[in-house]
Amino acid sequence: ERLVASDASSEDVSLEYSLRPQRLQEYIGQEKVKENLQVFIEAAKLRGETLDHVLLYGPPGLGKTTLAAIIANEMGGNLRTTTGPAVERPGDLAAILTSLQPGDVLFIDEIHRLHRSIEEVLYPAMEDYCLDIVIGKGQTARSVRIDLPPFTLVGATTRAGALSAPLRDRFGVLSRLEYYEPEQLAQIIKRTADILEVRIDEAAAVEIARCSRGTPRIANRLLRRVRDFAQVKGNGVITHALSTEALELLQVDRLGLDHIDHKLLRAMMEKFRGGPVGVDTLAATIGEEAQTIEDVYEPYLLQIGFLQRTPRGRIVTHRAYEHFGMEVPKS
Ligand code: ADP
Repeated sequence: ERLVASDASSEDVSLEYSLRPQRLQEYIGQEKVKENLQVFIEAAKLRGETLDHVLLYGPPGLGKTTLAAIIANEMGGNLRTTTGPAVERPGDLAAILTSLQPGDVLFIDEIHRLHRSIEEVLYPAMEDYCLDIVIGKGQTARSVRIDLPPFTLVGATTRAGALSAPLRDRFGVLSRLEYYEPEQLAQIIKRTADILEVRIDEAAAVEIARCSRGTPRIANRLLRRVRDFAQVKGNGVITHALSTEALELLQVDRLGLDHIDHKLLRAMMEKFRGGPVGVDTLAATIGEEAQTIEDVYEPYLLQIGFLQRTPRGRIVTHRAYEHFGMEVPKS
C-alpha cells in the first residue's frame, strides 16, 4: 500500500478511531469551518433545536468523519454512520431513519454515491422529518406518511459537484475543508505522538508535517512509520535526524512525493522533454492505468503546481525541474 495515499488503509481504519479529537476545541485548523459550526451549534442548543443538516466536502483524510463525530458529541446525540454505496435500497435507508433517536446525527460518507431513488427518500426526511412510503401495488397502492424524530444529517463528499442539486439544496450548512498548513499538521502530529506515548522533537514534527501532503491522515501514518524506526534504530525518541533518515528510507521526499511521483515526473522530463504528453502515452510509458494517473497520482502534483493540464496534454512546470535539480529544456 502506498504510504502517501490519502484514502484510509485497513491499518488506518483500525487505528484512527483512537486518534480522533472528540471536541471542536481539540480539532486543529480549519478555523473558518470550526468558527461557523461553533455558532450554529450554540444557536441550535439555545433554541433547543437540532442542528441544521451539514454537508462537508473536500479531499480524503482531511477530517470529515472526525467532524461528524464531533458534531454529534457537541450536540449530545448519538452518531450513526453509513456510506452512499452501502445503502442499496430505499428500504435500507428507511430502516436507518426510523431507528434514529431525537437529536441523533446520521453521517453518510460518500453521499454523492447514493442512488437517485434512495436520495428521494432523504428529501422529505431532511425537510419535514418524515418518510413517504407507498404500500401495496396498482389500484390499491396508497401512500403512508411516517414521522421521524428530529435529526441532523451530516453528509461528506470528496466531490461536491457530483451531488445532485436537490440534495445539495437541502443542506443548511455547507463547509469546505482545505488542505492543512505544515504548522497545523505539526500540531496534529504532536497531539498524535502524545496519544501514542512517543516523544518527538518540534523539528521532527515539522519535518514529517512537510511531507504529509496537507493531509492529517498521511501525517499520522508517516508518524507511525517513523516511530517504528525510532524504536528499532534509535532510543524511542523521534529526533529531527531520525525523522529525516526514516523518511528517506521510506522513500518519501521533502514534499511528500514518493517513488511513483518521481517515476511519473522523471518520465515526462527525460522522455518527453517535459511535455505536453497525453495521459495514455504517459500511462503506457510508466506502466500504470491512465485512470489511476488521473485520479490518484495527478491531483497532488497539480495542487503543488508541478503539473499542468493543457488541451495538448500534461506539462511539467519549472518548479518540478527545480525540485529535481534539473535544467529546464529550451523550447
Ligand atoms: P475524512 O473523513 O475526511 O477522510 P477523517 O476524519 O477520517 O478524514 O480523518 C483522518 C484522520 O486524521 C483521523 O484519524 C483524525 O485523527 C485525523 N484528523 C483529521 N482532521 C484532524 C484535525 N483537524 N485535528 C486532529 N486530527 C485530525
